[in-house]
Amino acid sequence: MKAIFPGALIYFVFCLMPVPVRAADADTVVIQPRSSWSADEPRPYKQHELTRITVHHEGGRILPPTADAGQRLKNIQIWSMGPARNWTDIPYHILIAPDGTVYQGRDVHTVGETNTEYNPEGHLLISFLGNYTQQKLDEHLLEVLTDLLRDMCLKYDISPDQIATHRDYSAQTTCPGEDIYSYFKSGYIIKEVKRKILLKDQ
Ligand SMILES: [Zn+2]
Repeated sequence: MKAIFPGALIYFVFCLMPVPVRAADADTVVIQPRSSWSADEPRPYKQHELTRITVHHEGGRILPPTADAGQRLKNIQIWSMGPARNWTDIPYHILIAPDGTVYQGRDVHTVGETNTEYNPEGHLLISFLGNYTQQKLDEHLLEVLTDLLRDMCLKYDISPDQIATHRDYSAQTTCPGEDIYSYFKSGYIIKEVKRKILLKDQ
């Protein structure tokens, strides 16, 4: 019988040790289920492994914080699944309303959709409802975004360095709008997400 390499033995024993689950690892952002916006059942679509996170805005019309976000979500789904696009579901995985409420979009394990030339396979798509060339992120929305990005990096084992915006992948769009993009361009978002991830170890 071959001698077991000590390093391999140590690794084997380490793997058998229970991994403690800490409360700080839990999600900090509550995501409202699809039932909250009366989503229709999706059609089947191809699965993927998440490797990066990409931030969008809806574009087009602005959405005031007092508007009915659930109705807007439903309208996007109807348009997406109808003859205009014939997609299998709403195109984004997670959506953020102007009042900071976060909603579940399509199943995160299915590939998202895009009108532009990049391939969204492997991308977790987060989109703000409304138009952030005309609207502005307030402190609360910035907090929600960085908390959500932290949660998703931890949950799906994605490095914060793999967080970017739609326009970083496509020259055909200014998405996610000038205001949201300015916080990525300055480096604030990635830095803040890294800080929040480090907090869980303290
Ligand atoms: Zn986009």
